[in-house]
Amino acid sequence: EAEVVLVGRSNVGKSTLMREITGHKFDTGGKPGVTRQPNHYDWAAEDFVVTDLPGFGFMSGVDEEYREAIKTDIVQYVEEYADNILVGVLVVDGKSAVDIIDRHSGPDEIPYDVEMFHFLRDVDVPTVVAVNKMDKVDEKDERLNELCDRLGLYPPWKQWQETIAPITAKNGQISSLNEAVRTHLHEQNRDDLF
Ligand code: GDP
Repeated sequence: EAEVVLVGRSNVGKSTLMREITGHKFDTGGKPGVTRQPNHYDWAAEDFVVTDLPGFGFMSGVDEEYREAIKTDIVQYVEEYADNILVGVLVVDGKSAVDIIDRHSGPDEIPYDVEMFHFLRDVDVPTVVAVNKMDKVDEKDERLNELCDRLGLYPPWKQWQETIAPITAKNGQISSLNEAVRTHLHEQNRDDLF
């Protein structure tokens, strides 16, 4: 069965999005970084499973070594199942993603979101960036264009609607994500035919 994986820093709203997608209840706002196991659920409206990979990034009470271990787990999981993974959904917080990326960009530092985005592409997993919490973003187009730029996608964001999906998971506004994922699903089916 085809699989969609969700990755993202902690607190971006991954559990909230999982709840929207699957109809299951998730422990939102719980202690991050506790679950290291991938969790599998059915995508309610579609014929594939969604895998929730552990959140990554700063977590109070979690040391550097543990954070690195989580990251290694995520990378190994995706590498192992890359052939079966239909789409990788990188969830980011639309309000803070660009600032966090800029803060962590340096000569020997690659921001997690940028690293994950390129990693998914390197292993040939079609990637959709679910830009969450858009309800909190004022200059939406401007922010989305900046995010494109940081990910190496030439703005304007509107020409990347298969890749950039602005959502507000909290209010159930995730149709752009559903559409983007569906586009990749159809592309893959077409590739299988020819
Ligand atoms: P996770 O750590 O990535 O699983 O994040 P959670 O799903 O636990 O959400 C973290 C916080 O962000 C919670 O307080 C959520 O209510 C909030 N949140 C999630 N989605 C949205 C959204 O679309 N808009 C706003 N404003 N807040 C959200």
